[in-house]
Amino acid sequence: MDPARPEDETGRSPGGRPHRRSHTTSADVARYAGLFAQRTTVMRSSAMRDLMEITSRPEVISLAGGLPDTSTFPPDSFAAQMTRIAQESSAKALQYGPTEGFAETHEVIEEVMRAEDMRPDPGDIVVTTGGQQALDLICKTLLDPGDVVVAEGPTYPGAVPVFCSYEADTRQVEMDDDGMRVDLLEELLAELDREGRRPKFIYSVPTFQNPGGVTLALERRRRLVEIAREREILIVEDNPYGLLRYAGETLPTLYSLDGGDYVLYVGTLSKILSPGIRIGWVCAPPPVRAKLVLGKAATDLCTSTLSQYFVREYFAEGDWLAYVDELRDVYRSRRGAMLRALASYFPRQATWSQPDGGLFVWATLPDYIDTTDLLAKALRENVAFVPGAAAYADGRGSGSMRLNFSAQTEEEIVEGIRRIGAVVGEQVGLYETMTGSFEVVQPEEQDDPSTSSAARSGGDGANPGPASGDVLPFHRKPLRD
Ligand code: PMP
Repeated sequence: MDPARPEDETGRSPGGRPHRRSHTTSADVARYAGLFAQRTTVMRSSAMRDLMEITSRPEVISLAGGLPDTSTFPPDSFAAQMTRIAQESSAKALQYGPTEGFAETHEVIEEVMRAEDMRPDPGDIVVTTGGQQALDLICKTLLDPGDVVVAEGPTYPGAVPVFCSYEADTRQVEMDDDGMRVDLLEELLAELDREGRRPKFIYSVPTFQNPGGVTLALERRRRLVEIAREREILIVEDNPYGLLRYAGETLPTLYSLDGGDYVLYVGTLSKILSPGIRIGWVCAPPPVRAKLVLGKAATDLCTSTLSQYFVREYFAEGDWLAYVDELRDVYRSRRGAMLRALASYFPRQATWSQPDGGLFVWATLPDYIDTTDLLAKALRENVAFVPGAAAYADGRGSGSMRLNFSAQTEEEIVEGIRRIGAVVGEQVGLYETMTGSFEVVQPEEQDDPSTSSAARSGGDGANPGPASGDVLPFHRKPLRD
C-alpha cells in the first residue's frame, strides 16, 4: 500500500477519493464472474497485443509485431499536412462524420484499389477503423454462435480472437508454398455437407499471407472463386500487403476475379501509410454493406474524421505510390537479411517460408519444441516472436513461429535471429542428448554439401532441412528479387 495514500477498508483513501487497486483479488473475480456474457468464456486475447508491453522495452528486439516502419514517413510532410487541415478545415475535421466514411475517403480507396487492378463500385465501400474493425463487423453481421468459418491454417493471429468472440466454429485448411490447399478445402466442404452444415464464409489472406508468408497460386484463386459461386458461400479476402511485393509477378485479387458478388474485400492503409490513423475499409454488395453500416454505427458512429482529413490531404499530394516504393525497398532488404540470418543461425531441422512480399516469415521447428515455451526463453535473451499457436483456433501450430522483418533494422534482425537460433539450438541439443537421436544422422547426409552448415549460411536463404512439426512443412524456393 502506498503510505502516502492510506486507505480504509472500503478501498477509498480518507477524503473519499477512490483510487486504483494494485491487484485484482479472487473476491473481485468472483464478484464479476456471474455478470459476464457466455461468450466471454471463449474470448481469446491477441498474442501480439499481449506481447506489446514487453516488446516495447528498448532492450528487446521484437520480431513479434506486424509493425510497419513509420520512421520512414517524412515528419515535415506530416507537419505540413496537419497544419493545412488546422488552417483550412479545422471545424469539419474535428466534427463527427458519416458512418460509411466521407466520399473523398472513398475516392482515395478506389485509387488504392485501382493500383491492384480492382474497380470497386463506390457505393460498396464502408470506411472502417482499420481492417481489424472490418473483420469484426463482418463477423457481427454474418455469424451466429456455432456457425462455421473456414480459414487458412495458420491464419492471421488477430482474426482468431474475432472468430472466437463471435463463437464461430473455425475450421482451418492447411497451406503449402502455394497458399491454401484448395483440394483440402473441397474435402472439408464435402465433409461439412455430410454434417448438414454450410460455412458462412471462407476467410483468406491470399497475398503474402500473415503469418505464413505464402501467396495463393493463380489456379487456386480461380478455383476458390468458382467454389464460392457454385456453393453460394462468401469469401472474405483480407489484403493488407498486396502492394508490398518484393519479387515475382502480380496476381489478380480474388475480388477482381469474382467482381465483388461473393468476395467481401477488406483493405487498410496501415501497411502502406500508417496504422496509427486506423483507416481500413470493406467492399461488400449492397445488402451486406447495409448491415455492416448498421453494425458500425452501433460500434463507433464513424471512423476518425481527423484521420480521414489527413488521408485526403496526403493523397491529394499525389506521391503515395512513391512512398510505397520506398517501403518496398526497405522491406526487401530486411527480408533478405532475415532469410540469410535464418540460414546461418537456425538449425538444419528448421524450415521456413520464402515470402515474395508482406512482412512475415513462418518458421517451423522440430515438433518436440513448443514455441510458446520457447518464447519465455527467448524473452530472457531480449528477443520476441509470435508463437505459432496464436495462428490457430484449435491449439495446433505449437511447432512454428511468426517472424516479422519490417519493424527492425537489418542489424537488429540478424542479431534477433541469432538469439532465437541460439535458444532453438539449445533445445535441439538437449533433445538429441536425451534421446540419442543425433546418432541416426547418416554419414553420407553429413557429407552432403547441400545440408552442411557452410552451404546453408551461404547466401540465398534456402534451407534444406527436413520438414517437421504438425503444420505447414513449407518447401523452399530460391529467393527471387
Ligand atoms: N488483417 C491482416 C491480415 C493483418 O495482418 C492486419 C494487421 N496486422 C489486419 C488485418 C488489421 O490491420 P489494421 O486494423 O491495422 O488495418
